[in-house]
Amino acid sequence: MIRQISVSGYVEKVSPGKIICVGRNYRKHIEEMKSVEAEEPVFFLKPPSSLICEGEDIVIPPQSRYVHHEVELAAVIGKSGKNIPAEDALGFIMGYAILLDITARDLQDIAKKTSSPWAVSKGFDTFAPVSAITQTVLVGDPQDLTIQLWVNDELRQSSNTSYMLHTVAALVSKASQIFTLEPGDIIATGTPEGVGQLVAGDQVRASISHLGTVKFAVR
Ligand code: MG
Repeated sequence: MIRQISVSGYVEKVSPGKIICVGRNYRKHIEEMKSVEAEEPVFFLKPPSSLICEGEDIVIPPQSRYVHHEVELAAVIGKSGKNIPAEDALGFIMGYAILLDITARDLQDIAKKTSSPWAVSKGFDTFAPVSAITQTVLVGDPQDLTIQLWVNDELRQSSNTSYMLHTVAALVSKASQIFTLEPGDIIATGTPEGVGQLVAGDQVRASISHLGTVKFAVR
């Protein structure tokens, strides 16, 4: 089943081909993970089958006992590009969305220890809840957005996209040096500090300036 994401104010939907994620892009999150800053962006992929839209639930898989939330600004690509210069990069983005990079932290910790890929810990079904897309023109500067996440009305994550180590433009440019970017592709730009556990029964709410609020239940 091909997943489709709606665009606010439009009938046509977007079908993401790939979800490109970035690790370690906020300094305080690197500190809380006791990780180290990387000079180049740390890219990994989530499968499109992990996408869910509002109205669907985040499902804790039986393989994990420790699932975390990570709220992220997602840039959605509007036109194909390869080796995009950073100064042109924002012109390749058609809109922005809120994406939750749901992570089986226990499985990721094992993967880190054994130098194994993150495909499993990041790739389960329902591990990429996403909001509707807001057009670029309505968002303004992507490096000046408040980004927040609540679990059961408790504020867990609260930051600003100005704290990104690699900007949205830099990430689009760098990613395009590796992957040909295609319309509908999503680039999730990393999470700020405050990541924490989700359990069945939780209600998650996330918001980013100009993008509104999105809610998901956990089961
Ligand atoms: Mg993340």
